[in-house]
Amino acid sequence: MANRRPIIAGNWKMYKTSQEARDFALSIQEKVEDVTDLDMVVCAPFTALHILKEELEESIIHIGAQNMYHEEAGAYTGEISPMMLLDMACTYVIIGHSERREHMKENDEIIAKKVKMALDKGLVPILCVGENLSMREGGKAIGFVRGQVEKNLMDLTPTELRKVVVAYEPIWAIGTGKTASSQDAQEICAGIRTTIAGISGTVAQEIRILYGGSVKSSNIAEIMAQPDIDGALVGGASLDPQGFAELIHNAR
Ligand code: PEP
Repeated sequence: MANRRPIIAGNWKMYKTSQEARDFALSIQEKVEDVTDLDMVVCAPFTALHILKEELEESIIHIGAQNMYHEEAGAYTGEISPMMLLDMACTYVIIGHSERREHMKENDEIIAKKVKMALDKGLVPILCVGENLSMREGGKAIGFVRGQVEKNLMDLTPTELRKVVVAYEPIWAIGTGKTASSQDAQEICAGIRTTIAGISGTVAQEIRILYGGSVKSSNIAEIMAQPDIDGALVGGASLDPQGFAELIHNAR
């Protein structure tokens, strides 16, 4: 079994002005300064990234974005390129969050391109996958999620693939207060690992797989105890520095 370094990544979604981002960054640092055994990431809106660059670039907290475009530069009004994220000291970028798949109609083809481009430019993509409630109730969750992983990652070389982080986020559990049982989450995350082994057997044990969906400081320990879950992608519970720091400590 590979020794995978855990990750706790916060996803602020469309929250926090630049002042609120600065307050968060100033507050959280001392609360997690002793955390050296896992990777901490804060994925902020584009407009707050320059603040996090100022406050966190030299810290042990990594900076991430929540999306990017799949071209380096060009006539793509309103889009943000991977080069711009690097310029903001980002090392991570969330790709294919279910809210983007649903509201912005991002499909598997676009998401696969974004993953590839992020890797090309040296960013770590956090690829989000997950089923909706009717798939879950119809017993189709595992097949659907494995299909997403295959479509989003199949064109990567083993060297590229081993850098990807996958976040399993059942859509029905995001922001709803409902969490998948740790057994159900483990089953899907194990299925994701098996799918990756099918793309490139050698790297599957190295890839970090996160769970996301109403993760809180009270349930993180149980989630982390699962053998194929290497951390969490956290939405609502990442907004308050005190609560997020507590969640991080409980994940260890
Ligand atoms: C998310 O935004 O990816 C997420 C999992 O949100 P929440 O933790 O609020 O369910």
